[in-house]
Amino acid sequence: MEQEKKRVYTAIQPTNNLTIGNYAGTIRSWRALQSDYDCIFAVANMHALTVRQDPSVLRARTQSLVALYLACGVDPAQTIVYVQSHVPCHAELCWALNTVTYVGEMERMTQFKDKSAKHADNINMGLMDYPVLMAADILLYKADLVPVGEDQRQHLEIARDIAQRFNNLYSPTFTVPEGLFGKVGAKICDLQDPVKKMSKSCENPNSSVFLTDDKDTIMRKFKRAVTDSDSQVRYDPAAKPGVSNLLSIYSVFADKSIEESEKQFRGVGYGDFKLAVGEAVANRLAPIQSEQAKLLADKSYLDGVMKDGAERAQAIARKTLSKVYKKMGLYQI
Ligand code: ATP
Ligand code: MG
Repeated sequence: MEQEKKRVYTAIQPTNNLTIGNYAGTIRSWRALQSDYDCIFAVANMHALTVRQDPSVLRARTQSLVALYLACGVDPAQTIVYVQSHVPCHAELCWALNTVTYVGEMERMTQFKDKSAKHADNINMGLMDYPVLMAADILLYKADLVPVGEDQRQHLEIARDIAQRFNNLYSPTFTVPEGLFGKVGAKICDLQDPVKKMSKSCENPNSSVFLTDDKDTIMRKFKRAVTDSDSQVRYDPAAKPGVSNLLSIYSVFADKSIEESEKQFRGVGYGDFKLAVGEAVANRLAPIQSEQAKLLADKSYLDGVMKDGAERAQAIARKTLSKVYKKMGLYQI
């Protein structure tokens, strides 16, 4: 008998244009995952509301993120692609899981602390509840594996804790998910401050390379990337964070191991090394950008993908939610 495929679930927030960090940390692996796993890829637009958004921009970015998923090789005939707010079960399960999550746990989350410092005028309940909504996303679909970047490791741990706690309190219900982290590229750093992670919501335009950047912009950003006063292209994240970050980026975008990349740039000056990194990134992004533009011209096709995805997602999610409600004692008719 054919064994049932394991399920993969992940999501990205439509908070800005995506960076090469988002690509390296998660999206680049999606195409290949589809052949071995039952995949679900969502656009986390409800998570995006945890920091202020311009409503019309958020709507447009939601659509363009769906187009990007497809441009990166996601096949909607096989994989479920949907938008979080189209499946009401997420908000519903989040509420139920809030009752088995402690305020103290949420206050300790690194992302909550970072984003609270960054948005001191808007430390809203949603920002604190972000990990619980993320747990709801994953647990609704009984996902086995969650491909995310290093920055989401702590949230994934909490999702596992919440699943186990619920299972212990109410009897086994949820699959306890595992993170799927890449060996290289799971944490791409800021080009100007290479000990910080690259984020799509970073203010400094030279810090992040966006998947929508044209070649000139990409080359300019890499030329300005911070390195060190040494002159060796060598992978040593503690002593040489800038150069090591550039090596990781090169390794992801040129499809070479770190060792191969180090060897290739032995004796090469930083100037030429940075140009090669920029070239590799621009070359990889060009076909994705043109495919995304083509898809964005066909709005009704994209709406159809989202609608079909939401229906398929909702069917799975509703089953889990109904079990949860029953176990928790919510009266059902
Ligand atoms: P924001 O600043 O709005 O939080 P973000 O760049 O952190 O944006 P998210 O939507 O929060 O992006 O995360 C989407 C995915 O990208 C997650 O799997 C996350 O782990 C991954 N990711 C984010 N930043 C990086 C990075 N610098 N390197 C590798 N993976 C990353
Ligand atoms: Mg983030």
